[in-house]
Amino acid sequence: MSDKMPEIDPEKEKQDILKAYKKLLRSTKRNEAKGDLKLIRKAFDVALDAHKDMRRKSGEPYIYHPIAVAEIVTSEIGLGAKSIVCALLHDTVEDTDLTVEDMRRMFGDKVAQIIDGLTKLSSVLDIQEDKSLQAENFRKMLLTMSSDIRVILIKLADRLHNMRTLDSMRRDKQLKIASETMYIYAPLAHRLGLYAIKTELEDLSFKYIEPELYEEIVAKLKDTQRQRTRFINKFSFPIINSLNNAGIDYEIKGRTKSVYSIAQKMKTQSVPFEEVYDIFAIRIILNCKMENEKSETWKAYSIITDHYVPNPGRFRDWVSKPKSNGYESLHTTVMSDSGKWVEVQIRTVRMDDVAEKGLAAHWKYKDTGKDANKDADQKAPAESGFESWLNQIRELLESPDPNAIDFIDDFKLNLFAEEIFVFTPSGEVRTLPSDATSLDFAFDIHTEVGMRCIGAKVNGKLYPLSHNLKSGDQVEVLTSNKQRPKEDWLGFVVTAKAKSKIKQSLKDENRRIAADGKEILERKLKSIKLTLTRELTDNMYKHFRLKTSQDLFISIAKKSLDFKDIKDYIESTKNASKWYNVLRNRISGTSTTEVEKAPEARPRPKDKGDTLVIGDASQKMDYVMAKCCSPIPGDDVFGFVTINEGIKIHRTSCPNAIHIRSNYAYRVVPASWASKDDYTAFVTGILITGIDDVGLVNSITTVISKDLNVNMKSIAFESQDGVFEGHIKVLVEGIHHLNNLIKNLKNVNGIKKIVREDEIDN
Ligand code: MN
Repeated sequence: MSDKMPEIDPEKEKQDILKAYKKLLRSTKRNEAKGDLKLIRKAFDVALDAHKDMRRKSGEPYIYHPIAVAEIVTSEIGLGAKSIVCALLHDTVEDTDLTVEDMRRMFGDKVAQIIDGLTKLSSVLDIQEDKSLQAENFRKMLLTMSSDIRVILIKLADRLHNMRTLDSMRRDKQLKIASETMYIYAPLAHRLGLYAIKTELEDLSFKYIEPELYEEIVAKLKDTQRQRTRFINKFSFPIINSLNNAGIDYEIKGRTKSVYSIAQKMKTQSVPFEEVYDIFAIRIILNCKMENEKSETWKAYSIITDHYVPNPGRFRDWVSKPKSNGYESLHTTVMSDSGKWVEVQIRTVRMDDVAEKGLAAHWKYKDTGKDANKDADQKAPAESGFESWLNQIRELLESPDPNAIDFIDDFKLNLFAEEIFVFTPSGEVRTLPSDATSLDFAFDIHTEVGMRCIGAKVNGKLYPLSHNLKSGDQVEVLTSNKQRPKEDWLGFVVTAKAKSKIKQSLKDENRRIAADGKEILERKLKSIKLTLTRELTDNMYKHFRLKTSQDLFISIAKKSLDFKDIKDYIESTKNASKWYNVLRNRISGTSTTEVEKAPEARPRPKDKGDTLVIGDASQKMDYVMAKCCSPIPGDDVFGFVTINEGIKIHRTSCPNAIHIRSNYAYRVVPASWASKDDYTAFVTGILITGIDDVGLVNSITTVISKDLNVNMKSIAFESQDGVFEGHIKVLVEGIHHLNNLIKNLKNVNGIKKIVREDEIDN
């Protein structure tokens, strides 16, 4: 397959694969019964054979991937034999000739069902070109999840391994996969209480999204490692003594913050690494019997606070009342001798296991109390507790805490509601969610029936569209050709199908009306010798306080906006505004069809050759710098095709980048800077904080304007209780120019901190 590979020694390769498999077995063996081991071996053999001609991007035989996923599934998530089998086979149906039927024949119903779920899931998650909506993908993901949570867990393991081996992918692929991971998988892992996996997914994504900052933090963490260890040792010493004297069985660990969480802190609080890295945390893990957990954790708490003063505002007790995702721990923050706050987490081995591995571990301790080694998968669901674990997750999804990721909130009703069975006039059964209405039923029958629905006869009696159906109802839909979907329908339908079809239809309708309105507007403007340009459109809808240009056209079509108002507006701006003159100049010959072109109609980037080169006049692309992150030459950037405002250039590290990349990958255009040094100036913001001092402002402005010949666009200083904050907008040529400026400013006495400001409103 890969001709880049040097010589392959098939014998050696076979041995290596077997070695990897043996390693997998070692991490499972103690948990599995004999029959399970046979099943795992069978799955391995089947997968090995099915993937025998395939290689990964890195060149290694494909089978390493399923083996690695299986290993994550067992040792990092804590699942049992059946899940290992599914993990080994997870890519077979999708990528090889094997079918779900084959799986059923060889491994039984459950395995077949899980693999089927995994296959479907990857087709909705991994292929997301133009048409697919992320939200719909979430829904499918959760739908699959409600049938068997193992599908999601194995998928997470699959993603984790892909992230660990992302190096061999192309840069644009890396960015897309990393953004997706950050957007869906890490929050999901978090929601399921898989903290270790969540953290690793975040760190890995971050590594690819912002490689420079990532490397910087990793290096600095390494540099400061000894310093931290020394501090922790000194801090722990008196506690260790007392814990020993009290006869407590424990382990004490210094806890490093993840690279990503450090980066987040640096960004949200606009502080440098040095102010984040030394937020210390230690974890005390107690080894004790389950019945003594509470008293032991409190005993440890009492010992710690004997030595250090706790911060009353930072105390958290998740032992008495665990978090909804199962997390249990006692957190306190105490003042160390050197004047630094230290967070102390106290928990038992079991709680720690739950925190790292999530509910899989939780269940393990809960239901097999005496015999924690038995595998959940192996017993009948009813008695195994696996079912109850599943229920727990379902419940948890049904009542997410206020901080829960909102997508679950959005879809939980549809997903986990009870179902009802409703009959058509001919006696056919339809399954709907329990609060479905007649209109949902109509859409379920056929989209056209839904669109034209005016009411329904339920059990022979006439009811409005919004009537709630019950199990056993027989429903006859009444339609009319004159009927059209209405906005208020969205208020009572519950099924995803009805919702999306109604929305789609309303959108189409609006688009049609807008097109009419635009035509009217163009015609009327022509009569006063004006051409409709994008600037004019934008200025008008903003002036009339509408949200989009489409709203403007619709208002005109529906006559809620009179042309007289538009004329007045144009008159009023005639003398004052510059753009008007610009417009006058353009009247001759400008084609109006250029205006409002949908993004889909723009040429799509086909390969890397389509990179948008900023500053290259030969490229006929319109672009502007995004205000949310104000890129300057030298920044790592990409282009985003917006609906109304052409292409916007964002920094790869822009706060909006992840959202954009994971939702609208197809509208992302690779971009780079033309290699010339004499750019016209770019506006960027810097935030300076320091100690207020006479003459400080003067020193700053001197450095900026005299020493470096930088133009200042605006400057705003604020001072409170001796601390000042300065927001300065400067015109720079690029990143080097800016860094140079920051470096020089750092030498000014009294300045404590200088950071680049993302958002600048011009
Ligand atoms: Mn895979």
